[in-house]
Amino acid sequence: MASAHPTDDMLASYATGAASPGVALLVAAHLTYCARCRARVAAMEAVGGALLATSPADCAPPRLESVMARLDGARADRPKAKASGLSIRDPILPGPIRDAFGAPLSEIRWRFRMPGVSECELPGTGPERVSLLRVRPGAGVPAHTHTGVEATLVLSGALLDRGAVHLPGDVAVATSDDDHHPRAVDGEECVCLTVLGGAVRFTGTFGRALNIFAE
Ligand SMILES: [Zn+2]
Repeated sequence: MASAHPTDDMLASYATGAASPGVALLVAAHLTYCARCRARVAAMEAVGGALLATSPADCAPPRLESVMARLDGARADRPKAKASGLSIRDPILPGPIRDAFGAPLSEIRWRFRMPGVSECELPGTGPERVSLLRVRPGAGVPAHTHTGVEATLVLSGALLDRGAVHLPGDVAVATSDDDHHPRAVDGEECVCLTVLGGAVRFTGTFGRALNIFAE
């Protein structure tokens, strides 16, 4: 099981169908690794169903079928937690990520992002930036802050971020208060999914030159 998880806010937004596309994808992929978060989401869904069933908006209690239809509608809008794995097989990418990117890892079209870091951005995710990153051993993203939350799900290798080592299935969440420098550990390439809710500002001497790429 993973040792670092999405925030409860992320899990709750997923459980209610309110998550952004990027957060929904990250949580769905994390759930394929994590029994703890699957249980939390199931509990949140049960609470949500109970709240819907006792909603004060209607004087008469809603019929069970209408509650289930509303829950099903919310569920239908988000990526499936279970890997479909029927059309695209891959030993590293979880099913929701394979389905979203439409390719196994071996067919991802990487683009240079910065020295040691390649990126494949998922189009059509609105103001948030949803990307697969491939980070060479020991390389990383220079020190930076962001205006929104940055969530990273490790898919292979190991990511060192703010003193913690994150392994496949782990989620590192950095808020706008964090100035950090995530990097792959030495000796092993790291592939991860990142969801960035705001702009990045590089803060180090070298990194400031990269701000042009962050626009
Ligand atoms: Zn978890």
